[in-house]
Amino acid sequence: MSELRSVCVYCGSAVGRTQAHARSARALGAALAARDIRLVYGGGRIGMMGILADAVLAGGGRVTGVIPEHLESAERAHPDLDEMIVVDSMHTRKRRMFELSDGFVILPGGLGTLDEAFEMITWKQLGLHDKPIVLANIEAYWQPLLDLVRAAAAEGYVRAAHTHLFEMADTVDGILAALRAAPAPQVTPAPERL
Ligand code: AMP
Repeated sequence: MSELRSVCVYCGSAVGRTQAHARSARALGAALAARDIRLVYGGGRIGMMGILADAVLAGGGRVTGVIPEHLESAERAHPDLDEMIVVDSMHTRKRRMFELSDGFVILPGGLGTLDEAFEMITWKQLGLHDKPIVLANIEAYWQPLLDLVRAAAAEGYVRAAHTHLFEMADTVDGILAALRAAPAPQVTPAPERL
């Protein structure tokens, strides 16, 4: 069982057309606040990111934003977080978010979300960490990604075991249950390798 003090959530800087996506961001934010689990996220006030952070704050929860200087205005840095870490680059942002978090949740999002998700998945594949990663498969949004990974495994590009580096959950309760059920991490990440 993992101890969950803080969870990193990656999600879109836009809001998708499917209303269940925004609802799931709100519900996840409320659930994190209710369980006193700190949210670590990209620090913006736009899109799914803003909806999520606002829901944690509305529930009296704690939020850490990690934003690169050059995106402070484009992603409208959230003014109400209890902690905002401004970093110099995208790479530093990803590393700080990783270091601050006990697990990762991928809500629906676009290319940036995919990049962040795959960085955590591939770092895990390389044994750089063993923290839990859960894809929030709201309205089956991530099914094509799972299909692609399975196709890559069938083709011999991905080891069968590596198709289990992440889990899928389609409800907020399922997401939290998957994070909690993960074995306690054994790997101590080496910052110089990230
Ligand atoms: P998107 O899913 O494209 O809306 O982006 C979601 C978040 O990912 C935003 O905060 C982006 O700044 C961030 N992002 C976009 N591209 C990258 C990248 N190459 N590496 C890390 N984060 C990124």
